[in-house]
Amino acid sequence: MKNKAFKRLIYGFLALFICISNFSFRIGDPVKRDSTGTGFKIKTIVIDPGHGGHDPGAYGSFSMEKNVTLAIGLKLQKAMQKELKDVNVIITRDNDQFVELHKRAEIANKNKGNIFLSIHCNSLASAHERVIVDYNKGRHGKKVPVYKTVSIPNRSGKGVLLLVYGFKRTGEQLEAIRENASILQEKNYKDYYSDSDDPTTAMVLNAYRDKYRKHSIHLADLINTEFTETDGRYSNGVKEQSLHVLANSGMPAVLIETGFINNSQEEEYLNSDEGQTEIVNSIIRAIKQYRREVEQTAP
Ligand SMILES: [Zn+2]
Repeated sequence: MKNKAFKRLIYGFLALFICISNFSFRIGDPVKRDSTGTGFKIKTIVIDPGHGGHDPGAYGSFSMEKNVTLAIGLKLQKAMQKELKDVNVIITRDNDQFVELHKRAEIANKNKGNIFLSIHCNSLASAHERVIVDYNKGRHGKKVPVYKTVSIPNRSGKGVLLLVYGFKRTGEQLEAIRENASILQEKNYKDYYSDSDDPTTAMVLNAYRDKYRKHSIHLADLINTEFTETDGRYSNGVKEQSLHVLANSGMPAVLIETGFINNSQEEEYLNSDEGQTEIVNSIIRAIKQYRREVEQTAP
């Protein structure tokens, strides 16, 4: 009993020490103090254009999500290479190919990404209705209606939406954090994570998960603010959702729904050079702000 209590105390101190020394957060100032003294640098950003190949994603009236996400992703990569010169920019696909979700996270983890940005377009599901399309002649000359189910597109969705991983898939995410240990820039981290049943390991992994979650939400907030305040876009906000592609990346990750492809106005915007450039510039400004905060360089 005594031994157990003592162990618990040691683990508690250890977790507390790690939290304080590496990534303590002050309320209302979630990121600024985070890297104090650690010399943390954002070295690699991973851009993930959603869908591709045999997976078209959502449809608009003249375009497919996979092409829009690729166009925005490539523009974003180019802009980042130009504006964030010392950052390595990785893209999970640069042509119309299908990349499995776990592969995308794997690419991000293998390249030791510091930020993972998944680009998507939103759409609302069509409603299905049974309508009378014809009449057959029944017995005694009675008219018998012929029904057909038709889909009625719902074009009412509009605006951006920022998603960060929720808590449901924590097991997968902890695994990703564990595998991605080298990006944690924690010298003796491997000592902690070598034994997965060790409660200390769980505490360290949980602390990192909390850190990534806070960073993801903060980055998503910054991007959202750029979309709404600079571009005047409508926003559906920053939401937490358990998404496979985000759950498996052991780093701050945001999925950007850039607009509704089945809303004709937004489809035009998403396919236009101006629209895509506006989206890219907003993401770049937010990333620069985030980077300033985590690297604590002067604005
Ligand atoms: Zn999508």
